[in-house]
Amino acid sequence: MEKYYKLKNILSNVISLIKKQDFLVYFRKISLIEIQENTVVYGTVSSFMKDNLEAKFYDLILEVSKKEFGEHITSIKFIVDNTIDNPSNTDAIDCQTFYKESQKTTKQVEKQSRSSVTGGAKSKATVNARYSLSNFIVGADNQLAFSACEAVTRNPGRSYNPLYIYGDVGLGKTHLLQATGNEILKKFKDKKVAYTTADKFITEYVTAVKKRNVERMREKFRDIDVLVIDDVQFLSKKEQTQNELYNIFNILYDGNKQIIISGDRAPKELTELEPRLRSRFEWGITVDIGKPDFETRLAIIQEKAREKEFMIPQDVAEFIAANVTENVRELEGVLNQMIAEYELTGNTPSLTRIAEKLQKLSFTTDILGESRSPSRMRGVTSIKSYEDILDAVSAHFGIEKEGILGENRKKEFMLPRQVGMFLLKTKMNYTYERIGNIFNGRNHASVLYSCNKLNKLLKKDKNLLYEVNAIKDGIGI
Ligand code: ADP
Ligand code: MG
Repeated sequence: MEKYYKLKNILSNVISLIKKQDFLVYFRKISLIEIQENTVVYGTVSSFMKDNLEAKFYDLILEVSKKEFGEHITSIKFIVDNTIDNPSNTDAIDCQTFYKESQKTTKQVEKQSRSSVTGGAKSKATVNARYSLSNFIVGADNQLAFSACEAVTRNPGRSYNPLYIYGDVGLGKTHLLQATGNEILKKFKDKKVAYTTADKFITEYVTAVKKRNVERMREKFRDIDVLVIDDVQFLSKKEQTQNELYNIFNILYDGNKQIIISGDRAPKELTELEPRLRSRFEWGITVDIGKPDFETRLAIIQEKAREKEFMIPQDVAEFIAANVTENVRELEGVLNQMIAEYELTGNTPSLTRIAEKLQKLSFTTDILGESRSPSRMRGVTSIKSYEDILDAVSAHFGIEKEGILGENRKKEFMLPRQVGMFLLKTKMNYTYERIGNIFNGRNHASVLYSCNKLNKLLKKDKNLLYEVNAIKDGIGI
């Protein structure tokens, strides 16, 4: 029994140091087996859990073990505890139950101290709390949109107004819009934030007209500090509603109120919208959000799995990320199916299983192994030849193609060269070897280096990101 209490202390410490999801996913069930001189031995459910705990939390568990047993502890060890699920094993702790118990006590304390604080604006309920900026995974293709949202939350109505985000379905527009609304509510408790979709706005307007209380609707919107409108493309052909939005827009804009809008294409291309409304949308900043690259997709799957407290084997996550390339919503859908299956059968998803599944859903036609490698992943949209890409880079930077492919190490050549390599890697999914061959027989390592270098630069340099996006847009990749 003593072991049990020691383990409880240890786990309480762990909980205070790591994210809830990490705790629930990685610890699952754990037991304290014994102490061998300077080593604490823990029991885990399976070798899979053991490997993960070792890889992720070795140092942290060593630290908290030292706290509990003393400084003479110099190492820890994990073994598979075959008796862990026996009801008679009273030394094992189920982390889910343990976590709930430990939260009950803290929550009660919080509740007592919080009851005097009044809630924020009444419009709070309209924003979905599931979306936050912190659970949005940032990659090269959504970096700009994300940064713009962050800037807006720091200074609503003052930095980028309006903020217009556009991109294909399932790439995170709604997530970003709602997250931005949430964040503003959190930071500025008295601000009124309204989230609506174009469809809802139309319905609201039509109803108001019928009931002859358009004025009331206007009043309501006039009073808002942050207006978020999702999917404005659906306003097409609704001239009256557009007109109303135009008026509301002007009032809010003149009052320095923040407006955040999303659409499936750039304002210019919303040809079925009134030109004056379209042009308002362009007054502030317009950013596009693109399809995430392999690394970003992988990070998204891992984040979603963590949120759902589901442990996904690394190879399975990579396989999904390599094959489901078009749309984050689909990526999530595959993960959810896997979780459902796990809950029904109790089987940890295997690579073979998920390969079959994806084949059924026709994300992949190759047999396992061939489509697995990220460098061979699908998702190349409109196939262009690499010449097209190099021509576009050359035209954009005003440098001869020979200069881009050649050896000159001056900055004016280096950067376009890196951009060229980067686009061939990310948009054509060429191997580093192949890119090396195109670029005058450079070796694989130097191409890899250049691509990584550019990737880092893009994360820091917004202007460069604009430029690269402009090249991509120009040739539709
Ligand atoms: P859109 O509005 O552009 O059609 P959504 O915002 O509804 O797309 O995104 C679809 C799903 O994908 C949502 O569940 C969202 O949380 C998720 N998603 C998209 N992009 C990301 C990202 N970068 N990080 C985390 N989740 C994302
Ligand atoms: Mg949406």
